[in-house]
Parts: sequence; C-alpha cells; structure tokens
Amino acid sequence: MSKKILILAGDGIGPEVMTEVKRIISWMNARGLTDFTVSEGLVGGSAYDVHGVPLADETMAEAMDADAVLLGAVGGPKWDSLDFSVKPERGLLRLRKEMELFANLRPALVFDALAEASSLKLDIVKGLDIMIVRELTGGVYFGQPRGITTLENGERQGLNTQVYTTSEIVRIAEVAFDLAYKRGKKVHSVEKANVMESGLLWREEVQKLRDARYGDIALEHMYADNCAMQLVRNPKQFDVIVTDNLFGDLLSDCAAMLTGSLGMLPSASIGADIGGGKRRAMYEPVHGSAPDIAGQGKANPLACILSYSMMLRYSFGMLDVADMLDNAVQDVLNQGIRTGDIMQAGATLVGTSGMGDALLKALEARA
Ligand code: NAD
Repeated sequence: MSKKILILAGDGIGPEVMTEVKRIISWMNARGLTDFTVSEGLVGGSAYDVHGVPLADETMAEAMDADAVLLGAVGGPKWDSLDFSVKPERGLLRLRKEMELFANLRPALVFDALAEASSLKLDIVKGLDIMIVRELTGGVYFGQPRGITTLENGERQGLNTQVYTTSEIVRIAEVAFDLAYKRGKKVHSVEKANVMESGLLWREEVQKLRDARYGDIALEHMYADNCAMQLVRNPKQFDVIVTDNLFGDLLSDCAAMLTGSLGMLPSASIGADIGGGKRRAMYEPVHGSAPDIAGQGKANPLACILSYSMMLRYSFGMLDVADMLDNAVQDVLNQGIRTGDIMQAGATLVGTSGMGDALLKALEARA
C-alpha cells in the first residue's frame, strides 16, 4: 500500500537540498523499490510569509496524517526580528510537540573517505558508527517549576527542574534497546546518578527494563561527564547511547563533530506507537538553513538524503533500500566527488545538483 510522505522543505538551503531528495524518491518509485505518495507544505519563514504563522493548522493536520515527515531547515536573517511566538523555529517545535516526538536519533557515522576531516586522529574515528538516542520532550527543558523570580533579599533566582517519570524513561530506553538489537547489541545509559535523584531513577529503571525484557543486550551505565570524555578518547567503544534531554543535547553535538562535517549529519525524531506498530516520525538534517550559501547551488544535500535513508529504515523497515542508498553515498564519496563543505585536495568539486546527479548514477549502478 502506498505510504504518505509529507515534505516540508522550509527556508534557505532547505528547498535546494530537498530537490535532490525528491529526485531520489521519484527514481525509487519509478524502479518499484518504493510506493510513496509525496505532498508538500510550508514551514518556518516561508510559511510565515504566506500564512502569518510558521506552521499553518492545515499543514500540522497533514503531518499528523502522514506516515512520515521529511523536513529541510528553517530560519534566516529575514525573520530574525519577528516576535518569539511566530519565529520560524516555532514551526519546528510545534511539529515536535504535537506529534509527540520523544526520541531523537542522531547517528555519528564516519565515512572512510571523509575520516581525515575529523578533528580527531584518523585511527580514533575511522569506522566509527554510534547512535545517540536523546529523550526530547521531558527533563529540565520542560520541567516545572521554572522561571526567574526575585527573592526577599532582592537577589534574582533562575530556576529549572530536572524531572523524569518511570514511563518517560522506559519508553526512551525501549527505543534504544530495540535499535541495539539491529546493531551491536550494546547500550550505554548515561546520567549523573552520583549527584541527581532523577539520574538514579533513570539508572534503576533502565536496568530493570534490560533485565526484564532485553537480556541479550549488554548494558553499561556511565556518568555524563565521563561519557563526554570517552567520546573523544575512545568513541568506538560505543554502539547505542541513551540519555536525557540535556545531556543528549550536548553529547550528540560532541559526537557529531567527531565526523567532521555538518553537511553529512542526518537525524530522526520518533513518537509513540499510535497503533498497528505505526509511530509518528520526522526526519531532518542536523544543519540549519545556511543563509550564507542559500540560493547559490552549493549546499551539500547528503545530510537530507541520509535523513531520507533513516526514514526508509526506521519508519518503513525497508532495510535493503536504505542500505542501497547508504552504499551509493559511500560510492560517490569514494569516487572523490565533493561539495564545498567536504572538499579535499585532489577531489572533484560539485554543487548541490551535481551531487544529486552523481548519487543517481551510483544508485543506477547498484540497482
Ligand atoms: P547552519 O547549520 O545553517 O550553518 C552553519 C555553517 O555550516 C554555515 O557556514 C553553513 O554554510 C554551513 N552548512 C550548513 N549546512 C550545510 C550544507 N548542507 N552544505 C554546506 N554547508 C553547510 O547554522 P547557523 O548558520 O547557525 O544558522 C542559520 C539559520 O538556521 C538560523 O536562522 C538558525 O536559527 C537556523 N537553524 C535551523 C535549524 C533547523 O532547521 N533544524 C538548525 C540549526 C539552525
């Protein structure tokens, strides 16, 4: 049965990189590898320009109805001075909130051909393949009470609350264990159980879940500060890392930089099971709208293309097609084809559509 994909290309380089993804979707549909019906909507500044809000209600409804959403990027200087309530990013936050996307998956994968771009030594990052699973809708970014108050002595106080319940911990840990099954069967659960009660609860609940239902998975607990250190000392010890919203924010950016390139990083945000094994999900590159290069045909489309590959894998279980696409990306990099952001001496410089052309050629060769 045909699956519905909603594409929200957004602002800046979003529509440019998305054009290349759409070419790949058309190619896969024509080949009979997929049967996707694609619709498109506006998000971010481009939605504000048309609707006066960064995400129209109709677009939100379409996202709720879609089998998966693919997003480009939002934002740009044109909309920087807008009121907070209608800033482009609010469109993204609304999608995440209403689709209840509680699990953020950020792979840190080092392609052999790009290993030298990392700021770490080649032997430390070559072959690296980590998945960071970050809790996205709870913890200190949302906990109550919060706010800035003035105390009786006249001093000001800023307050945020780190809070997690058993069900919030269990559902994110399930995502991590299920992923580990398809990978290296190893999970590191990361918190600060030594100094935070919420971390202690996290540790106990993750361990309980592992013992009850995931006996085949090797589980290690690690303090977040140690994890930060281990990520740059010996990142290849990790397979899946599961952690809370705050630590995940920091650790996923740190792990991403091991790979050396923003234009290569995909992500997925997954929601609860809404029946029949279906989960709401949104896929998007980690990078932003890159206003400095927007409209110049220079953007690297691979992060967005790899986000689409995650969609094939995690929303639709099309592992063979996802592998084919990932391998085609490897092929193109091995051929020395590069956009400006990942350019190396002796390589061939191409633009956004040139990268798309090379990828389609590599897919043809593998089909
Ligand atoms: P950015 O990720 O847009 O750009 C940072 C740098 O990386 C720029 O020099 C850019 O040219 C380069 N870059 C990013 N993606 C690239 C690609 N695919 N190919 C080649 N080069 C690439 O971050 P920024 O400059 O801090 O933010 C720009 C705008 O994007 C802001 O309005 C910000 O709020 C927004 N933003 C949106 C998202 C999102 O939509 N998820 C994420 C981050 C930033």
